[in-house]
Amino acid sequence: MENRALLIHGGRVVDPARGFDGPADVLIEGGRIARVGPHLTASGADRFDASGMIVAPGFIDLHCHLREPGNEPAETVESGTRAAAAGGFTAVCCMPNTQPVNDNASVTRFILDRAANAAVRVWPIGAASKGSAGEGLSEIAAMKDAGIVAVTDDGKPIASAKLLRHVMEYARSLDLLVIEHSEDASLFAGGVMREGPTSVRLGLRGVPAEAESICVARDVQIVALTGARLHVAHMSAKGSLEEVRRAKERGLPVTCEVTPHHFTLIDEDVTYDTRFKMNPPLASRADREALLEGLVDGSVDAIATDHAPHTQASKEVEFDRAPFGVTGFETALGLALEALLHSGRAKLSRVVELFTSGPARVLGKKRTLAEGEPSDVTIFSTELPWTFLAAASLSKSRNTPFDGRKFRGGPMATIVAGKIAWQRSA
Ligand SMILES: [Zn+2]
Ligand SMILES: [Zn+2]
Repeated sequence: MENRALLIHGGRVVDPARGFDGPADVLIEGGRIARVGPHLTASGADRFDASGMIVAPGFIDLHCHLREPGNEPAETVESGTRAAAAGGFTAVCCMPNTQPVNDNASVTRFILDRAANAAVRVWPIGAASKGSAGEGLSEIAAMKDAGIVAVTDDGKPIASAKLLRHVMEYARSLDLLVIEHSEDASLFAGGVMREGPTSVRLGLRGVPAEAESICVARDVQIVALTGARLHVAHMSAKGSLEEVRRAKERGLPVTCEVTPHHFTLIDEDVTYDTRFKMNPPLASRADREALLEGLVDGSVDAIATDHAPHTQASKEVEFDRAPFGVTGFETALGLALEALLHSGRAKLSRVVELFTSGPARVLGKKRTLAEGEPSDVTIFSTELPWTFLAAASLSKSRNTPFDGRKFRGGPMATIVAGKIAWQRSA
């Protein structure tokens, strides 16, 4: 069924890819952006009053876990994408560590089939190795044909430099992105939080920042060897950012993302509450400062949520035994506005870039509100006061450290392929 035309009027359009920031209306017709300009009219079109709101290209999340197939009590493609829409995201990339692992085209097709009627677009990421077990290669070419946008063994790093070389040579020949969960297994060694005074005080086993940065250094060298495109997931350490900066200066195809929890919380916030247990663990204050600088100066390419839902039962255990991960779709924009815009660190266009053209570039895609482009639009407020309540989340899971957090600004409406996928209730 053809959607009716939609006229988004009265808003401030912020489109970093075109360097545009100003008042404009956006007309959507037939699933495409038909026109962007002042005072548009369209007879018979539905209208969305965006007065006082920001109208941006549709947000992309490069990193989430939708848990289907295999852990449907924690999340499904349907519930996860509804939560994503409520976070302003119009497309999400889902990690392959499902059960079974997305390491072959039939699992990829299953996920895409589940996504056909989902609230937002789902771009699956395939496993780099079979079962993400770090031995043989997965069916990378067949998964690419089925629709994956990258490969990774997320949840853990690609096990050895030799395997990474093999994956990267293959990915390079297919022009496919390799996403790395950078972690040196020998340094990580059963850690549950960042090593430092807080881990000592709590008596929890710590992980040094170098567990991440050593792996990033390894990976960058294999990029130089193979020419493959590398994206560093959920970066949490200053040393890793320095590796990425140096790689970029050398002209290597290396990009990185930072999660909202890593640029807002630090290891000192950790208690025995398992909602503060994630991997990589919350970093030191100095690391967080470096990540914020990277987000502002352009060395960080994207904000990604690493939305990692877990059932209450699985998280309600001792800190040591709880699984890693926090939910993140619905709080991402509010946290970014707080840490970057309202703090005075960054301009609004930079914040929007980190959710739109930034992640799109990582994937080799475009994301802009130009005529003829797909009509994915995120409408948000920078001012609306609201409170995030985990109990009201559209995710099936509640494992968030931000329950009860008050925000200034957040998503107002999410438009996917010209259709309103989510809208804030008045
Ligand atoms: Zn990871
Ligand atoms: Zn992840």
